[in-house]
Amino acid sequence: MNQPKVKTLGFKAGERNVFFHLLTACNLSCHHCYINPEQHGKSSVSRETMLDWLKLFADPDKKTNVIFLGGEPTMHPDLALGIKTARKLGYQSITVDTNGYLFHDLLANISPGEAVISFSLDGPDPDINDPIRGQDVFRVCTDNLKRAISLGFDVSVIYTVSRMNIDHLLRMAPLLKSLQVKRFFIQVIGIRGKSASSEDNLQLTPGEWLSVIPQAAADAADMGIEVVYPKVFLDRDETFSCGGKEAENYFIFPNGRVYRCPLCEDFPINALRIENNKLIKNEDLTEDRFFELNIPEGCVMNKLLQPGNIDYDDHGNPLHRISCCLIKQEMKK
Ligand code: SF4
Ligand code: SF4
Repeated sequence: MNQPKVKTLGFKAGERNVFFHLLTACNLSCHHCYINPEQHGKSSVSRETMLDWLKLFADPDKKTNVIFLGGEPTMHPDLALGIKTARKLGYQSITVDTNGYLFHDLLANISPGEAVISFSLDGPDPDINDPIRGQDVFRVCTDNLKRAISLGFDVSVIYTVSRMNIDHLLRMAPLLKSLQVKRFFIQVIGIRGKSASSEDNLQLTPGEWLSVIPQAAADAADMGIEVVYPKVFLDRDETFSCGGKEAENYFIFPNGRVYRCPLCEDFPINALRIENNKLIKNEDLTEDRFFELNIPEGCVMNKLLQPGNIDYDDHGNPLHRISCCLIKQEMKK
């Protein structure tokens, strides 16, 4: 029998990813929501700004992917126009990360080839998903996911693993198989937004992560599903690289802040900002100063924000290095 193959998805030279938060509003109130209105405001980008910023980040000489996010991006009335404009501007791939509610009848207003729709589910059934994401969310999300598949859309599912649902991750593969989902993203809960202030400790220990996630990924890959999950821990012979320095990622917010690293989004240390439709480099103490620091633990921001996920030996040396959160593993048959 073929064993699933694991590949590390490193940074690709010449490729850029634009994570475009159209708004911070959402119809749901998930337990672990990472949105931080104090830092990113409560506004939406206007239609004109959305189109201007898509033009600003389009570059005919580079392969650029755009991921529309929120809040809930389908609450933006001009999302379909944004998707069509991104296609015309030559973006290599266009993805919408949705909680599954698909407002403004998105599926009726774009065609299947125009965007990939990525649905968030945090449990294999309503008993696990709904206490995290809200009442009836499992039903709405899976109904719309089935509708998207029946219309011919390319869909994927994102599962955010925390203490609340790690024990049920292994049950996701049969569900995804029955729904005919071919791509599964597993992400780890971070100390951001609500989970940073939550009194419950939702974070996973290294042991919990390593004992569950690779096996869950292998099970799903065995069923023909392509699985992508964060690398998190580097092997001894692997080189550390910081996406803030070695990749071209832009995390854009409606208030004009542009970050290079998602772990920095809770702080006013964005390296860039958009002003008068121009991308401007910020001075003072910004995230890019941290990217330059070389520490034995690997990722500097992880060390600052989540020191609890690093174990040390008796001499104070870290037992493992933490990878950049933007480095993923892919497992498939
Ligand atoms: S769907 Fe996303 S943006 Fe909305 S509350 Fe949940 S995590 Fe936050
Ligand atoms: S997560 Fe760490 S390694 Fe990755 S971009 Fe941010 S600071 Fe750099």
